[in-house]
Amino acid sequence: MKQPNRKRKLSMDSKEHLNQDGCLEQAEEEKKPRDGATPLSHVPSVAAQEAWSWEQYLTEQKAIAAPVELFSKDQSFPEHENGFQVGMRLEGIDPRHPSVFCVLSVAEVCGYRLRLHFDGYLSCYDFWTNAGSPDIHPVGWCEKTKHELHIPKGYRKDKFVWMDYLKACKLQNAPKKLFRNRSSNGPMPKEFQVGMKLEAVDRKNPSLVCVATIADIVEDRLLVHFDNWDDSYDYWCDVNSPYVQPVGWCQENGRTLIAPQGYPDPENFSWTEYLEATQTNAVPAKVFKMRPPHGFLPSMRLEAVDRRNPRLIRVATVIDVDEQRLKVHFDGWDHKYDYWMDADSPDIHPIGWCDITGHPLEIPYRANDVKILPGQAVCPTPGCRGIGHIRGPRYSGHHSAFGCPYSDMNLKKEATLHDRLREQTQANLESDSSHSRSKNLCSLNFNGKHEKVNSQPRLVQQAKCLKIKGKEDIDLDNLFRGLSVAGGWVGCRLPGASLSPRQHESR
Ligand SMILES: [Zn+2]
Repeated sequence: MKQPNRKRKLSMDSKEHLNQDGCLEQAEEEKKPRDGATPLSHVPSVAAQEAWSWEQYLTEQKAIAAPVELFSKDQSFPEHENGFQVGMRLEGIDPRHPSVFCVLSVAEVCGYRLRLHFDGYLSCYDFWTNAGSPDIHPVGWCEKTKHELHIPKGYRKDKFVWMDYLKACKLQNAPKKLFRNRSSNGPMPKEFQVGMKLEAVDRKNPSLVCVATIADIVEDRLLVHFDNWDDSYDYWCDVNSPYVQPVGWCQENGRTLIAPQGYPDPENFSWTEYLEATQTNAVPAKVFKMRPPHGFLPSMRLEAVDRRNPRLIRVATVIDVDEQRLKVHFDGWDHKYDYWMDADSPDIHPIGWCDITGHPLEIPYRANDVKILPGQAVCPTPGCRGIGHIRGPRYSGHHSAFGCPYSDMNLKKEATLHDRLREQTQANLESDSSHSRSKNLCSLNFNGKHEKVNSQPRLVQQAKCLKIKGKEDIDLDNLFRGLSVAGGWVGCRLPGASLSPRQHESR
């Protein structure tokens, strides 16, 4: 957690500044053309890539593809083309802070995917998403739906006007027609209301079921917030998600319910008392409908975003499944790179998705295909073609383990990215109150008074609770379920611990 060089690092990185028109300029090094840094990929594998086909591969491997019917609308073949263009402005959710809506710009378009950039921030926070993602909205959406918009760094909240910003900076907003209309999924049942309580799985740590609140509702999805925890654990899901359950579900199913942080007697948590103390209601149990099991089976093949290098989609195999998730293995790669993904993750696709959407597909790695020319600088990690960089899209490639998202030294790093919003706080922008909504909703203390949300990592605080839980061990795998941020693999910061995503594989 301690970063001795942080101050220096920040001052080096914070090169963004306002120009004469008050427009944000990107740091010089971010603007430099990327051709100079283009990696030398292993030459023969390019030819191999061109000759490769799923059909042939499946026959060769005697393997089967995951049937298209198993994929949701967000995962399957898109109905529309990706009409977004680089530079277009929009509003969208920060994947690391799901309750926060931000001013975003399209930094890169690839097939049906977009790399989105937070205006005013460094590109290391950029992230990839699908063009049909429910997390993105047109300019003006926040105002229309009464959501707070987190404005670009360097602007005053009370002075920011979208249209002035676009005009002054000669920017284009992304046309409304490019955003997918999700009303076809049916509206949210009216029984689900903001402020209501439920029991929900902590997706970062799925063995925990915790006291939670509906912090927001947008179209057919709800925002789950864990009472008295910071918003980094929040997530959006639809009402049929297996992650949300009615109040009393744990008791009925013999599971331990994790009480809100700071609850006086967590082992004897009582919903009746808690609802009364917080003057809130539970979502009626009858409105919960469980979605059918996901249907993915071990050995099925699919295409999956590699979250250590989220610009890439690889040929992958399901090697294990549980109720809500599947474990993916990237064909030809070492098993240390395997990880669990939610079965409803928008980052898995049926075979042929890349081909149809015009996205490159990373084919299985075969050591024999690779011949390195004498004197050629290539990444030493087997399978890695030198694409991407641990420090984000500022560098398009790497030639050594130092920049490689897959090298042992980088896999062992606890975290490569500090918190974008905390960085802002440090920049003396404490007046920011983008979290006030959920705080007011969910952070009542047990006398009904407001309490400051503690942002210490959840696991540390829960140590006491976990000991009591005995057999229900915490799932370390999921601590490292980094988000698909463009900087590559992002783990979870654990003070005093240096667990790597690999160590728990041996458990
Ligand atoms: Zn590499």
